[in-house]
Amino acid sequence: MKDLKKACQRVFDRVSKEKIRGELASYIPPLKKVDRNYFAVSLITVEGEEFHFGDYQERFSIQSISKLFVLAKLMSFVKDKSLWKRVGREPSGMAFNSLVQLEMEKGIPRNPFINSGALVTTDMLLTNLGKERALQNILDFIFASSGKHVRVNKEIAKAEQQTGFRNLSMAYLMKSFCNIESEVSDLFELYCNHCAISMSTQDLARASLIFANGGKNLKGDAILLPRQVKRINSILQTCGAYDDAGEIAYRVGLPVKSGVGGGVLAIFPRRFAVTVWSPPLNEHGTSVKGMKFLELLTTELGESVF
Ligand code: GLN
Repeated sequence: MKDLKKACQRVFDRVSKEKIRGELASYIPPLKKVDRNYFAVSLITVEGEEFHFGDYQERFSIQSISKLFVLAKLMSFVKDKSLWKRVGREPSGMAFNSLVQLEMEKGIPRNPFINSGALVTTDMLLTNLGKERALQNILDFIFASSGKHVRVNKEIAKAEQQTGFRNLSMAYLMKSFCNIESEVSDLFELYCNHCAISMSTQDLARASLIFANGGKNLKGDAILLPRQVKRINSILQTCGAYDDAGEIAYRVGLPVKSGVGGGVLAIFPRRFAVTVWSPPLNEHGTSVKGMKFLELLTTELGESVF
């Protein structure tokens, strides 16, 4: 691979100069108050080298990126069978908060990265670990992966709890199909709390290294098994950016997870994890600059998973 740091620097400089298109998420009110000019990139290689650019120590709301850690935590202790009978592994081709397929498909969400699917994985954490321990277990999983203690932004969690009517509808619809076991209010509280975890691109790159490194963190501890990581990355590739996943596969060529806080992470298996943050989003809820950076990076490197 060509000189990674130089390639990142060149692409960062180029994308920094571009005019920022896109809108901030407004349905969770505190998210639209964030300065749209933030731009940060962090890359960490499986050898432990790190490169950071821009506002890489500034924390932002990871939002749907938390769904990746919820799934990973769950896969680390539940049986595959009990998980995959309640949620699928197919792209939905629809917005992350769509309800359309859920009724037709009898309350079984297409995949764990759309909101309905993440509500099911969150429900499984809640029923297996209990109300007190479930959130702490997600935070502990991130700590074990990254070596960094992270926190929930309670203001953002509360705001989503007050405005997340579509997610509540999904949870009740799935409960009517017996695919939600907990109390919807407890489930939604946990869901909003993990979506409101705050991390910098530096924290997030370190936490996501396990997905590039066969399940091992920076210290070499095995957090997940290689076969689990293989599966998580393939679901990231096909479903990690909802109805933007095909476009991202075409333009970037790496497994990606996006969030409406403007964060994006991408995994280059056996090479590196890279995270980008820039708040303005395209119509699918993907960071415009994040996507541009990743597209130019794999183009500049001349390599992707394909
Ligand atoms: N908490 C957000 C929601 O449920 C997450 C969506 C996202 O980041 N795509 O709507």
